[in-house]
Amino acid sequence: MTDRTPLLIVGHGTRSAAGVAQFGALVERIRRRDAVADVEGGFIELSRPPLTDAVGALVGRGHRSVVALPLVLAAAGHGKGDIPAALARERQRHPGLRYAYGRPLGPHPLLQEVLARRIDAALDGADRTGTWVALIGRGSTDPDANAEVTKVARLLWEGRGYAGVEPGFISLAEPSVPAVLERLRRLGARRIVVAPYFLFAGVLPDRIVAQSREFAADHRGLDVRVAEVIGDCDDLADLVLERHAEALRGDIRMNCDTCAYRVALPGFADKVGRPQTPHHHPDDPADGHGHHHHDEPALHPGQVAVVGGGPGPDDLITVRGRALLDAADVVVADRLAPTGLLRRLRPGVLVVDAAKVPRGPSMSQDAINDTLIAHARAGRRVVRLKGGDPYVFGRGHEEVLACAAAGVETVLVPGVSSAVAAPALAGVPVTHRGVAHEVTVVSGHLPPGHPGSLVDWAALARARGTLVLLMAVDTVGRIAAELLAHGRAAETPVLVVRDAGHPEQWTARCRLDEVGALAARDEVRPPAVFVVGPVVALAADPASAPAVAAPAHAVVDPAAGAVPARG
Ligand code: SAH
Repeated sequence: MTDRTPLLIVGHGTRSAAGVAQFGALVERIRRRDAVADVEGGFIELSRPPLTDAVGALVGRGHRSVVALPLVLAAAGHGKGDIPAALARERQRHPGLRYAYGRPLGPHPLLQEVLARRIDAALDGADRTGTWVALIGRGSTDPDANAEVTKVARLLWEGRGYAGVEPGFISLAEPSVPAVLERLRRLGARRIVVAPYFLFAGVLPDRIVAQSREFAADHRGLDVRVAEVIGDCDDLADLVLERHAEALRGDIRMNCDTCAYRVALPGFADKVGRPQTPHHHPDDPADGHGHHHHDEPALHPGQVAVVGGGPGPDDLITVRGRALLDAADVVVADRLAPTGLLRRLRPGVLVVDAAKVPRGPSMSQDAINDTLIAHARAGRRVVRLKGGDPYVFGRGHEEVLACAAAGVETVLVPGVSSAVAAPALAGVPVTHRGVAHEVTVVSGHLPPGHPGSLVDWAALARARGTLVLLMAVDTVGRIAAELLAHGRAAETPVLVVRDAGHPEQWTARCRLDEVGALAARDEVRPPAVFVVGPVVALAADPASAPAVAAPAHAVVDPAAGAVPARG
């Protein structure tokens, strides 16, 4: 019987051509089985074909629902974090795409069978009774994944007659390969088979061979052999198809009782409730190996990410900004940043309020810079969360320069600026074909005539395009007067948008010669942007619009066309 729901086999990728070939051969073997109508395989990094091509091929053939199977032995960083993150990106690329996520391959009796065969091949007739096995797993910072290798070691021993099976790890966990070989030697082992618990060839299995040979060379008289990896074979194909069928039935019997992201394990309590984020392996040969997609920089300890949070609502931050926020140990947040996100940080994250309330108590920029640098130097992942875009009147670059001067690395994540988003959320485009072919974003912080002002108000008065004024609640009257004095028409429409994107969003419209009076109203208070220019008239039909009010999270807000009751 052929199953209609396609199978997407997701590998993590390897620098080893042999490993890529084995993956490809397995995908082909599964295809030939004809148990599933459509099968594609792809890698999340390093190797071809990339996952995105595999998904594109399935979508191109009309599939909207797939089973995505992580081709991993145990649930660790790849299976819990990186592959789901890559699939999430694919779902954004293909709206409407749904997938059921299968569980990791191991533990499974078929895998133990294959391991035993690989060990027998290495034994080449020598008896099991006099043989110790060192089962070498990948090693993980996830204790559950390491425990699973230990479990598989035990299951491999049970009933097979080896002298014993001991687990070891090639990376990130103890005991290392030399350490487990030394342990077996001291237990009196004369013959050891090192069995890599790996699906395919790769840099790490090669390293297992090298370290085993080195140990053997140092211990003449000890018979050390290395078995092949699991590799492309019929048992593995059977297992993949079993996992596909399970996922289709919604029958994912994963045991999450010892998942460090769910329950506090000693030494790992900080993982509980923490979202899985793309990770890196510090001891991999090519770190730079970028475990993260190249377009998605990870935040490493000691780095500061200056992140634009968007205009205020929690869901107008970028995907990248959100990912770095999830990775942060310390978040230094502005008042205009999306503060709702701060309530959803994992437990234990330090939140520093750098609120710079206008005319209120403030934390000076130097103090903020010092805070960022101090936390970074203490080895923490620091996110500086700002409203809008960090480089639009956000002083973001001052922070980047201060960090650079202190030798602290920074990552900049742009954000959706209120300069564009606030008008848009009120239904006004800042440009429109045939109406406005330019838009100027101006800070109203310093009024016309102020000695520190860098703005050429006369030139702005002559321009015909859109003017967006930020931080101008206190100065908009003087700005309007200056623009009128230099020739802007008195009837030029003006829009004010306060608390854009929030449930309290409030908008009003008036003429340029009325905005001084409008700004005196209580409703006009920060944060607000003023939009000056003919685009304001595009908002909606003012006659049909209700009185000044704005529905929450208006996508296009007809109320933006309302003329405020004056008084
Ligand atoms: N970097 C920010 C701007 C910081 S200056 C950005 O790119 O959006 C602060 C000014 O931004 C406020 O005085 C106000 O003019 C504007 N602003 C920020 N958030 C706003 C919001 N939700 N609604 C209206 N104006 C907002």
